[in-house]
Amino acid sequence: MIDKLVIIGVGLIGGSLSLALKQAGLVEQVVGCGRNLDNLKRGVELGILDAYEAEISRAIKAADMVVVAVPLGAMTSVFEQIAPALEAQTVVTDVGSAKGSVVAAARPVFADKIHQFVPGHPIAGTERSGVEAGFATLYQNRKVIVTPTEETDAHNTGKVISMWESCGATVESMSIDHHDKVLAATSHLPHMLAYALVHHLSHLNEHEEIFRYAAGGFRDFTRIASSDPVMWRDVCLANGPALLELISQYQDEMSRVAAAIESRDSEQLLSLFGRAKSERDLLIGNC
Ligand code: NAP
Repeated sequence: MIDKLVIIGVGLIGGSLSLALKQAGLVEQVVGCGRNLDNLKRGVELGILDAYEAEISRAIKAADMVVVAVPLGAMTSVFEQIAPALEAQTVVTDVGSAKGSVVAAARPVFADKIHQFVPGHPIAGTERSGVEAGFATLYQNRKVIVTPTEETDAHNTGKVISMWESCGATVESMSIDHHDKVLAATSHLPHMLAYALVHHLSHLNEHEEIFRYAAGGFRDFTRIASSDPVMWRDVCLANGPALLELISQYQDEMSRVAAAIESRDSEQLLSLFGRAKSERDLLIGNC
């Protein structure tokens, strides 16, 4: 049971966490904090929040758990506002999509309170954002990764794990570097491909024609290009090296596809598509 939960950044991820914990009956009071009071008022109307505070230092008073759910580029400034007011009983966690940059920002700011910080990342989301986007079932049967630092108190990690498990998620622990490499491949690169494809096609002369005839496959592949541009700019900047390595490997892969088409190498094309289909069928079967 969490007596007082504070969510800083009440959007899709923070709002859904509150709704899930409320539905599970595991939180007494949820206080929201953010830049925009209208969003926070809307959070109360939607039953996501019980109360809100504009000032972080006031919001986190007597809190058991503080969840930082702002875009990656805003983490440092939020940590700087939390640290001086952070009380000894409070656990701080975040939900950022890249972990190396978050921990690099948190360590000097929290200093001797760094044991209270548990880096986390729910592997769940939609292309929607903002306070209206949250829903209680977002984390059911989904994974959450925690990447505790050497200094993180194991007891605090346990509290964060219990919180996510109460929302129906399975929690796994991994190193920060490993997290950032894996997520660059499974989430960050696919978003870049979707954005780049839609951007590229929208510049072609016949783009209206292309979008008019776009069918299910195009919609499936490009759904995530409707995601929040600020969030994804921040992910690119936060996880640049891992993402650049994958983009380069992917460019090589596309060159091999182009070469096979150019040389009419039907064996090569069949083998590539066949292997990719088997891999995906296996993956979906296991999900
Ligand atoms: P979101 O729906 O846009 O919510 C973020 C909230 O943060 C906004 O409602 C906004 O509230 C506040 N905010 C925005 N910019 C801020 C700033 N510069 N300073 C302080 N507060 C700011 O975004 P989200 O999808 O929930 O993503 C939040 C975090 O979750 C990000 O770090 C992202 O990497 C991570 N994440 C996202 C997904 C996904 O699929 N969307 C999945 C896993 C993790 P106010 O306008 O009221 O301040």
